[in-house]
Amino acid sequence: MSLMLGIDLGGTAIKSALVDRSGKISDPRSTPTPQGDPQGLEAIKALTDLVKSYQQTASVAGVGLLVPGLVDPENGIAIYSGTLGWRDLAIADLLEAKVGTRVTLEHDVTGIAHAENRIGAAKDAKSAVVVAIGTALAASVILQGEVYHPHPAVGELGHTPTINQRPCVCGLKGCLEMTASGGALSRNYFAITQEHLGAMEIFDRARTGERVAAELVQEFVDVLSTSFVYISALLGPELIVIAGGVSKAGEDLIAKLNEALDQKLTIHRRPKLVLSQLPSGSGSIGAGLLAWERLI
Ligand SMILES: [Zn+2]
Repeated sequence: MSLMLGIDLGGTAIKSALVDRSGKISDPRSTPTPQGDPQGLEAIKALTDLVKSYQQTASVAGVGLLVPGLVDPENGIAIYSGTLGWRDLAIADLLEAKVGTRVTLEHDVTGIAHAENRIGAAKDAKSAVVVAIGTALAASVILQGEVYHPHPAVGELGHTPTINQRPCVCGLKGCLEMTASGGALSRNYFAITQEHLGAMEIFDRARTGERVAAELVQEFVDVLSTSFVYISALLGPELIVIAGGVSKAGEDLIAKLNEALDQKLTIHRRPKLVLSQLPSGSGSIGAGLLAWERLI
């Protein structure tokens, strides 16, 4: 039986799985992303090895590949990634030439939203916004049952100003993802306490009332809920789906965001806030489903 290989290449890990037509996965794997690789040559080597390894045990009909940053899916080019340092990397063609299988490229959060749209929380919604919060923050819009992504920078919600003034990798100050992301929580906590903690530990400490953690989580909720107000005012989505690693903060985070929205939304359509129910490798699922739709 032919399967698609879905690959989500992130800043720290390359997550992959075989994906059947219904989105069911098998043989999920995670390998480290090569670091210090601005030309992307090491990444292409790692991807080639990975695809070849899957080809030995399965009939791989095509590859769906997700990468972060600005992406040109039609031409298979990773235009820019601040995380990886790439510029104008023709990654789909380069990989295709090495593995002899067709490759389709997409932006990581678009791929995650595609999985939510086809088989996840947004499956039955006419409109939804998927907000992926992990190391960074980005969003994707689902309208009339399709992901709406007309330009590479659409969805870059993480780079919009907030009341905070923390400098951002994009050159601005006060970007949303400098406060409301897992990476930011860890950095901001370290800046105050000199203690390295993961975002989930900081959420846990906030729950037990530790002052620094509680203040940072409150700030996180304040700026994120304000961004939800703009989303609601403009798009009025039925759902906002929280995906990415931070979704593990769970119903407690949803409750805090709902409480904040009670104060901030008036005449607007109130979105239902939900957590992604897909496994943590939802990027690989989305990548595989995209491959099924584009390459067959
Ligand atoms: Zn920024």
